[in-house]
Amino acid sequence: MKKLLDYLLDFLFPRVCVACKKNHLSSEKFICYECLIDIPKTNSHLQQIELIERKFWGKLAVKHTYSFLKFSKKGKVQNILHALKYKNKPELAEYLGKMYANDLKEVNLNEKIDLLVGIPLHKDRQKFRGYNQSDMFAKGLSEVLNIPYSTTCLKRNTFTISQTKTGSRFKRHENIKGVFEIADLKEIEGKRIAIVDDVLTTGSTIEIAGNLLLGNGCKELYIITIASAY
Ligand SMILES: [Zn+2]
Repeated sequence: MKKLLDYLLDFLFPRVCVACKKNHLSSEKFICYECLIDIPKTNSHLQQIELIERKFWGKLAVKHTYSFLKFSKKGKVQNILHALKYKNKPELAEYLGKMYANDLKEVNLNEKIDLLVGIPLHKDRQKFRGYNQSDMFAKGLSEVLNIPYSTTCLKRNTFTISQTKTGSRFKRHENIKGVFEIADLKEIEGKRIAIVDDVLTTGSTIEIAGNLLLGNGCKELYIITIASAY
């Protein structure tokens, strides 16, 4: 009976793979089998990737950056990130978190990290989207790795920043200073924390949040992202 229903639902509402945008079967969740096989992983859990780590050299004391997927423009990973941001798919972020956690289990990440902290979204953006994809990704990681995650210790201040109109990296930097605030010091003191974000490009937002955490009692800092551009 369930199979018949699935068949009917597939027929009436064809599911589309978030990576290749082709129709897929109801037994496949979000991403079709074909894409699951050849999705570009970084494997940064097995070996540190210099092109990723160097984004923070001299700027932020990161122990290790773990990025699940390799981002490339117009590629499948970009489609996945787009679906996360604009297609109302909080479960997709959680699903990716669980998937990546299975890789991270291999390197016993739960023994290295005490707390996962998602980069908070601007309030208006979160209201519009209905969820924070970084928190949902952290939730998925948390469930499989048994590492708690916090959505409350780091807060994003509400003033607006105009990142688009600023040219230099330095200026952009100045603009986002003060964008975050620690809401609960006790939650981070003496902890080994992993900042969780969706995509790592220049790393400037993570840099600000990370330095704030390290300056307020966080013992060691890690980064975990869904994707990384390098
Ligand atoms: Zn696909």
